[in-house]
Amino acid sequence: MCLKIEFYHYNQVFAGSAIEAICPDDKNVKNNVFIITGEMGFHNPSYFNGKHYTQDLTHMINVGVLGATGAVGQRFVELLADHPWFNLSTLAASERSAGKPYGKIVNWRLETPFPEKIAKIKVVPTSPKAMKDVDLVFSALPADIATGVENSFADAGIAVCSNASSHRMEPSIPLVVPEVNPEHLGLIDVQRDSGRDGFIVTNPNCSTIVMVTALAPLRKFKFTDIRVATMQAISGAGFAGVAAMSIYDNVIPYIGQEEEKMETETLKIMGTMKGNKVANASFKVSASCHRVPVIDGHSMAIWIDIKEPVEKLKKAFREYKPPIKGLPTQPEESIHFFDEEKDRPQPRLDRMRGNGMTVSVGRLREGIRFVAMGHNTIRGAAGASVLNAELITKKKYL
Ligand code: NAP
Repeated sequence: MCLKIEFYHYNQVFAGSAIEAICPDDKNVKNNVFIITGEMGFHNPSYFNGKHYTQDLTHMINVGVLGATGAVGQRFVELLADHPWFNLSTLAASERSAGKPYGKIVNWRLETPFPEKIAKIKVVPTSPKAMKDVDLVFSALPADIATGVENSFADAGIAVCSNASSHRMEPSIPLVVPEVNPEHLGLIDVQRDSGRDGFIVTNPNCSTIVMVTALAPLRKFKFTDIRVATMQAISGAGFAGVAAMSIYDNVIPYIGQEEEKMETETLKIMGTMKGNKVANASFKVSASCHRVPVIDGHSMAIWIDIKEPVEKLKKAFREYKPPIKGLPTQPEESIHFFDEEKDRPQPRLDRMRGNGMTVSVGRLREGIRFVAMGHNTIRGAAGASVLNAELITKKKYL
């Protein structure tokens, strides 16, 4: 292909149309006219998760967010606004919000600036009909609503990456943390074999994600029982969640369904894919969950029955490499291990490591016990779902 374009003599992106022009050879330049040879594409430079990318606008995947106005929904919008692979084209919420521009109805409560380019997107009702143009939706819906809605999207041929608990324990639905069990995405084929064009992939509950990620380096050793006591942030209950009068100067030693989720989801995630089924792991998990007055970041003390000496386990943490690479939302370090520091991790100091995607581990000592902490609405929710969607894309399920 050969084009003649009147243009300046340097690499430049045409304002608005985002066509990248490259001048390969000075001798082709005469009176500000030069010849571009090679493939034409529509590209846009983007900066995402600390790295420079070139968005290939001709191959972006159109995505939408369900529950876009909520605590997790806003995180999705934040993480997807400049995503190099996904084009955030559609936002859905309840009937209360539908029909209005997102910028007018969202009460933006994140510490990062509101992404203005999203402001004019009109919020649509939560239905596949209203979201025909998307290939994939991220679901941040309350669980009771997600059950039917997510099925209707998958039946309509749309991929669903869900944060809700509704479908996590269904045998044909993958419950995935890419660093721990990427092979469980094989269950997508089981869903498709049942005649559905779309599919549902889930990520675990926010405290379970932190715990299974922290356990990943120890998986190569045999262990039996795990006991865990969590100290969970208030953002885990959503915006309407816990009244200030209940949580200020207080600790609430009960979070509905949280202990059951940690005790069951962990066994599925750390289970083995056998044929077209997941065989659950056989160790036992006992959880005690507490709400504490921290805005973001779930901490937990974990005890594990394992025979290996402390030094060998520390080495496993130091040398841990995740089984996935090259995903835009993936942090440099999946786990940050505090080997020497006696008073880390702490939510305020460590939750934004790896842009909120790194799980921090410290205080590994005789017992065997340690402390793990991760950002609950990023690593534990929206970021986990986006990472799953990137893995699905890389594995060509879309
Ligand atoms: P949230 O702040 O209460 O937000 C709920 C969202 O769902 C809002 O956008 C709301 O829209 C929308 N919604 C409510 N009723 C609806 C309906 N009938 N139809 C369509 N949309 C409706 O909740 P959240 O904390 O973001 O949690 C969302 C999901 O993620 C839940 O299933 C939760 O368990 C899960 N999760 C949360 C966390 C966390 O740390 N927060 C972590 C992991 C998983 P309107 O604004 O229009 O009402």
